Amino acid sequence: MMRTSNLPAFEPLDPVGIDDLLTPDEKAVRASVRHLCAERVDPFVADWFERGVVDDVRGLAEELGALGLLGMHLEGYGCAGMSATEYGLACLELEASDSGIRSLVSVQGSLAMYAIWRWGSEEHKLEWLPRMASGEAIGCFGLTEPDIGSDPGSMRTRARRDGSDWVLDGRKMWITNGSVADVAVVWAQTDEGVRGFVVPTTTPGFSAPEIKHKQSLRASVTSELVLDGVRLPDAAALPEVRGLRGPLSCLNEARFGIVWGSMGAARSSLAAALSYAGERIQFGRPVSGFQLTQQKLVEMNLEYTKGVLLALHLGRRKDAGTLRPEQVSLGKLNNVREALEICRTARTVLGANGISLEYPVIRHMNNLESVLTYEGTVEMHTLVVGQAMTGQAAFR
Ligand code: FAD
Repeated sequence: MMRTSNLPAFEPLDPVGIDDLLTPDEKAVRASVRHLCAERVDPFVADWFERGVVDDVRGLAEELGALGLLGMHLEGYGCAGMSATEYGLACLELEASDSGIRSLVSVQGSLAMYAIWRWGSEEHKLEWLPRMASGEAIGCFGLTEPDIGSDPGSMRTRARRDGSDWVLDGRKMWITNGSVADVAVVWAQTDEGVRGFVVPTTTPGFSAPEIKHKQSLRASVTSELVLDGVRLPDAAALPEVRGLRGPLSCLNEARFGIVWGSMGAARSSLAAALSYAGERIQFGRPVSGFQLTQQKLVEMNLEYTKGVLLALHLGRRKDAGTLRPEQVSLGKLNNVREALEICRTARTVLGANGISLEYPVIRHMNNLESVLTYEGTVEMHTLVVGQAMTGQAAFR
């Protein structure tokens, strides 16, 4: 007979004990982010989503910075220098609160700060990174344009030389943090190929009108960037990179965070469905007692558990320096897709209440529609993995 008395308890939201694979430091990071989210985000985020406004976004950025969450996996210049796995766990907790809050952190740390940290001059790093790490300065990352998304090599924003200056003209679209940013990392075509520019948002000719009417990522600022003859000194260009390698390297960092973060939205929806199903009485018993509901809960948990294991495996590879971009694509493709499916299933478990912002599920579900598209669409990541498997690029 199997003896179970000395076995650890079965944890419904960690059914195979993935926690055993985490170090005490990793668990401590997770606990501190979870605590911040419980205090500073969870009580307010449904209201922010409903109104399409994040109250006191600067104050929130400073609190995230105080905890070391901004540029947390970067070394030096006031950054926390944590591991990739710790960064991933933080993203999971942030996105369990809301994808918009994780986006604030991802764009700040993995896109804007990473671009400066990896490809900037020493002057760029000293000027911006400590203030961005503390949350005093907010950054954004302008790659997408109104007519150019998946194919950034065709971008139309142009930077031309004028004496020793650069002059930028063009439009960027769907830019997270744009209207609240102090600094924008803007990618533009030049005679030397695509280059990145560090643009203080007070520069004449720069404006960032907010995009309204979004039904997804409403607790996140999304903006257009307008560049009308933005004149910058020669030193504004990121000196260390030419070509799409620059922006793609940053996107790879942010995608890694999404591999983890999407599982946070999934966990929150699974937890809501499990709790609701235990309390909702129909036909004289909790709906959790019906076989069809149990099947949904188990299927959700299977995909959640596999997704977290995949994220953790990719995190260990990233910490070991062996993580390939195609593997990040595979993780982003799988985990966002499955997280969205988990949210949709959770929504059915909550019945009509599932469409209410009283519960987190519909908010996560709507948010994940953006996450499925940004940082490379689900189709593009499919084709990246397909190319890696077959040696043939199907997207050109
Ligand atoms: P398109 O590229 O026009 O694609 C349309 C459809 O065609 C998609 O289904 C796509 O997969 C498919 N498709 C395109 N090419 C192919 C192909 N070769 N084969 C098969 N299918 C193909 N961008 C930034 O630069 N910075 C940001 O901070 C930022 N934040 C964002 C925040 C939000 C809320 C959203 C929604 C987007 C954000 N984006 C940002 C933009 C995002 O990265 C783009 O939306 C994304 O890259 C896709 O581009 P697109 O929307 O123009 O779609």
